[in-house]
Amino acid sequence: MRNPGLDDRVMAVRARIDAAASRGGHRQNVTIVAVTKTHGADTVSAAYDAGLPDVGENRVQEALGKMTEVTVPVHWHLIGHLQRNKVRSLDNFLLFHALDSARLADVVNRFGEERGRPVKVLMQVNPVREATKGGYDTNDVEAEAARLAGMKGLAVTGAMTIARIGAGEAELRVTFAAVRRSREILAEAGHPATELSMGMSDDFEIAVEEGSTMVRLGSILFGARA
Ligand SMILES: *Cc1c(COP(=O)(O)O)cnc(C)c1O
Repeated sequence: MRNPGLDDRVMAVRARIDAAASRGGHRQNVTIVAVTKTHGADTVSAAYDAGLPDVGENRVQEALGKMTEVTVPVHWHLIGHLQRNKVRSLDNFLLFHALDSARLADVVNRFGEERGRPVKVLMQVNPVREATKGGYDTNDVEAEAARLAGMKGLAVTGAMTIARIGAGEAELRVTFAAVRRSREILAEAGHPATELSMGMSDDFEIAVEEGSTMVRLGSILFGARA
């Protein structure tokens, strides 16, 4: 078996998520998105067998390769940046977590209109304005939410963030609360925005306390990446 102990790790992580959810008091359900990047198709199957049918990949080519090998019916999530010339690959994913610019939004919308079914996306926001990281400035969310509200090729189902590596608890809470507010702004603009994709192996408990509905977990489940 490629992932000995995975069942135990999933159980331990779920217990920590449940405890964090009760501490936070948001009463949300939390989905674990098992991040299998750099791991093989066998890890995707192992995740499915361990009760994790939602799988996250950050690179399109790598994900498409695994899709040809995996036979179990997982839900594929694209959690990383998408180049505009690869927008058609979104057909293969249940949810795109990283809608990070107006230019990309326009291209994704056009694709959704063409195929006759909206593309489910999360707006990626970057509350601490890290220059090296994609995502909307939280000050731009309201105007962009209004602009996207007219687009029939998009279903904006929530907001997503990647917290700053090394951020302490106070910064994490400010970051996640800003994303929570962004989701509210999207909902107020008429989007079906119910999801908050935030929290990774090192910060998922604080994210859940702050209302996360989707935690993206890689190394805590599958070990360090090569
Ligand atoms: C790699 C990755 C994760 C998972 O990171 P871990 O720290 O291994 O849990 C989550 N989200 C995104 C966008 C990633 O690229």
